[in-house]
Amino acid sequence: MQDTSKKSPMELINEVPPIKVQGRFVACEGDSDPALGHPIEFICLDLAEPAVCKCCGLRFVQDHHHH
Ligand SMILES: [Zn+2]
Repeated sequence: MQDTSKKSPMELINEVPPIKVQGRFVACEGDSDPALGHPIEFICLDLAEPAVCKCCGLRFVQDHHHH
């Protein structure tokens, strides 16, 4: 179970636009510095709506390229 009592940056996160990712999966670490983030969370981006990392709340969308 997740500890929901700790400080949550959800309000700030909600102001961050979803991160565009090329590919069907993204490995989220919560931060570019692994020491500040969380264990790698693999997120599937097959859904139409942005996928949310359950660890840090960052949102990701698949960047569809149509050449
Ligand atoms: Zn994350």
